Amino acid sequence: MRYRSTRGGATGAQFVDVLLQGMAPDGGLYVPESYPTLQFGSMGNGDYIRTATEVMWPFVEENYEREEFAEMVSEAYAEFDHPQIAPLRELNPAAGEWLLELFWGPSLAFKDIALQLLGRLLEHELSRRSTTATLIGATSGDTGSAAIEAVRGRAGIELFMLHPEGRVSTIQRLQMTTVDEPNIHNIAIEGTFDDCQDLVKAMFAAEAFRARYRLGTVNSINWARVMAQVVYYVSSARALGAPEQAVAFSVPTGNFGNIYAGHVARAMGVPIDQLILATNVNDILSRAYDSGVVEVHQVVASQSPAMDIQVSSNFERLLFELFDRDGSQTAAFLEEFRSTGRAALSGPVHGRFRQLFDAGRLTDSETRNVISEVYKESGLVIDPHTAVGVGVGRERRSDPSVPLVMLACAHPAKFPDTVVGALGEPSITPHRLAGLAGLAEYVEVLPNSLDAVQEHIAARALSK
Ligand SMILES: *Cc1c(COP(=O)(O)O)cnc(C)c1O
Repeated sequence: MRYRSTRGGATGAQFVDVLLQGMAPDGGLYVPESYPTLQFGSMGNGDYIRTATEVMWPFVEENYEREEFAEMVSEAYAEFDHPQIAPLRELNPAAGEWLLELFWGPSLAFKDIALQLLGRLLEHELSRRSTTATLIGATSGDTGSAAIEAVRGRAGIELFMLHPEGRVSTIQRLQMTTVDEPNIHNIAIEGTFDDCQDLVKAMFAAEAFRARYRLGTVNSINWARVMAQVVYYVSSARALGAPEQAVAFSVPTGNFGNIYAGHVARAMGVPIDQLILATNVNDILSRAYDSGVVEVHQVVASQSPAMDIQVSSNFERLLFELFDRDGSQTAAFLEEFRSTGRAALSGPVHGRFRQLFDAGRLTDSETRNVISEVYKESGLVIDPHTAVGVGVGRERRSDPSVPLVMLACAHPAKFPDTVVGALGEPSITPHRLAGLAGLAEYVEVLPNSLDAVQEHIAARALSK
């Protein structure tokens, strides 16, 4: 399997190059040249590791021995707190509603499923090339701890994670700063999340600095992350009877990475009847779905903060397909969008988008209502991101005879304020959070200054 850029400027890339580069040299995103067809018969009895190895193998086989890859997959999920890794839980048996729990990893959010594998694949490839990397990132909360957990203690990798000082929740701060590892560097910037992102962008734009420290990221545009997320669509659909039985999915969406993985699973042969795109009030994607116009609005802080996004980077991968894999059309559309904040899909392209997905949005108060409704019905406590998916999923479901799987993307204990606000009581605190209060914190506070941050990194990055 080789990879090409969504903007037409790169073809024939190998998986390991896609893994290390993240973004293609022409500014586009890597996509596979074709989608392999799933062999449902060879996936065994439903064991997650076996399924994962089977699903991902065609995407990576050029670069690994099968045993070696299977071993990394197995290690990636060894520390998950549930033996099934991504278990299905019955939400409403009479209605055929299921929750797919994706929060049993070390940071208690679904990003662990991709990042735990990515950390191991990166370490392996850097070691094979006898080189090192300096990963930098900006976080408003959720991504930070998943990235830290993915690379903590990994050889050849130093991670510098920027967060806005005093502007992330206590739980999210503690999940990052209590990690005591020499290769993990938390930086609290005296500024906003946007300041943090601007600093990261400025460091990537500083050619000499970027090359000298071999800067990289683990952000959600990396193809390897999408690939690892395809697996739980396959495993859950099989558990519900695929390939004979069709399934619908409702997916809380921010950067379009998670739901795009569902689209890939369908392209590989999973019988997916509906893929429901659920947004909060930051609803650029559901507006685009309704009107055919992709238009940026101001980002609004919501109670599902991991979805407070206006420019969904992985949407570019879908656009490329909607434009019949024409890189120059994709590039032109994105150029218009970038320069004016608005671009319109043509009638036929908009029609294809509507054929492939359903979409809807939920406000914060609707989200709180869903949390309390679900609790009353089933006794289950769900987090606000999951609640957006449940609310929109129930609204948009078209065929009650097809099982509806709603992706549970974070553990409710990560968002105590919203959950207590909706239920009047907290959820159970999992062991990974219970021990954090009172631990030593490792974090450096720096001014919002590129020089200060670069100096800090230069003093700590690996030199080889
Ligand atoms: C990242 C995240 C999302 C959004 O996922 P995308 O792949 O960006 O669409 C939703 N919920 C939670 C809890 C997240 O951490």
